[in-house]
Amino acid sequence: MERIEGQPCPMCHKPSCTLTEDAQDIPYFGKVFIFSMQCDGCGFKKADIEAAETQEPVKWTFTVESEEDLNVRIIKSSEGYVKIPFITEIIPGPDSEGYITNVEGLLTQVKDRIDASIEDEEDPEVKKEGWKLLKKLNRALVGSEKLKIIIEDPSGNSAIISDKAVKTKLKTQS
Ligand SMILES: [Zn+2]
Repeated sequence: MERIEGQPCPMCHKPSCTLTEDAQDIPYFGKVFIFSMQCDGCGFKKADIEAAETQEPVKWTFTVESEEDLNVRIIKSSEGYVKIPFITEIIPGPDSEGYITNVEGLLTQVKDRIDASIEDEEDPEVKKEGWKLLKKLNRALVGSEKLKIIIEDPSGNSAIISDKAVKTKLKTQS
């Protein structure tokens, strides 16, 4: 892993940013670079993933239907748009991060996010709706609820590593 300290921070402009670059070989996908940036001054953090080989705009669709599916690896770049129909969408934006995880990690992340969002919610209807989603996610996390995960990535740097995952070309809007 390469590490460079004392770089200028894009947020606070102090020379207190540490950059790291790591490479990992992902079976059935290839080599990926994992970049991260962290500032000790202001706490700014950013991570991203990039495939070594140029990729085409891609859409991945995967159905989670068993406990085994929870171990399926997911590579999400900062441009990856994750949709879990009837549950949530993770829209790429300026603070969107790239990471390597698995289905369990992704669903847990979504669960934590919903959990945090309804904690201070006062509207009982919204709260009820949130609980319903959490229940669904909890069932999916033990393999007893079917869920679909869709990742669209115009950079092509995202992937779902499974024989069951369906890869199609992403139609880009012009
Ligand atoms: Zn900073």
